[in-house]
Amino acid sequence: MSQAVRGRTVARIVQREAATEGAGVSINRVMPIAALDAVDPFLLLDEIRSDDPGAYLAGFPPHPHRGIETITYMLAGRMHHRDSTGGNGVIGAGDVQWMTAARGIIHSEMPEQSDGLMWGFQLWLNMPADEKMATRSSYLELAADAIPTVEGDRHRVRVISGAYGGKSGPAPERTVSPTYLDVAIDAGGSFAIDLPDGHSAFSYVFDGEAGIAGTAVPNGGTAILSGDGPVSIASNAGGRLLLIAGRPLREPVFRAGPFAMASARDLEQAFEDLRSGRFLEPA
Ligand code: MN
Repeated sequence: MSQAVRGRTVARIVQREAATEGAGVSINRVMPIAALDAVDPFLLLDEIRSDDPGAYLAGFPPHPHRGIETITYMLAGRMHHRDSTGGNGVIGAGDVQWMTAARGIIHSEMPEQSDGLMWGFQLWLNMPADEKMATRSSYLELAADAIPTVEGDRHRVRVISGAYGGKSGPAPERTVSPTYLDVAIDAGGSFAIDLPDGHSAFSYVFDGEAGIAGTAVPNGGTAILSGDGPVSIASNAGGRLLLIAGRPLREPVFRAGPFAMASARDLEQAFEDLRSGRFLEPA
């Protein structure tokens, strides 16, 4: 027997679902859905994509978060963010907003436009149990021109977090060393990356189609990868996808709405703190 070839394969493919969030905003939910609860350390991936203002104008009025980081990446349109730490900014096409809810934040995310295409993603990164309440809540904007694009043969990769092709993303350092790439592959092109060993990884195909480690993934499909080492991605007709990876925390997750804590008691405490006005970090 020859030695097994080191490389990642597709363990399974799940299809996104339609859902409603915030004040009745229509979204595509990649996870959590019945077929995919989480890919540790990632707890949620939503896509908002609509050129119908009625589908998004009501936005996401003030709401709390605790225990996670929310990473918002815009492809089109503008979103105005305000939060209880004083964070305030508008992100547009190509920009990323990295919000560390940690012990508690209240924020709103409202569209800044009344027509045109609104397209973006929100990813939730879980925080290690011992960092959730010990980290200061914060808000960071990663401007489009600070996010490197690596131009390859018939592919382009925007590096938001992690590294590819000798470029590193501008995202802050984190215990789980997240990789977050936006990969566009032209018809007949291909791309390969050696992801860190031990990291979980998944890829959401949001435009066109892709062949991930030889497995066809349709538009709207998410491939959950298994194994270690490199993964190669090709596209016959052209496609675009998010490739996301990170070191799993392997900790219990108790989640409800906008909170994700490491014990039932801590989750209960989040609701209790919100009711009693002790939710936000003392100034
Ligand atoms: Mn939010």
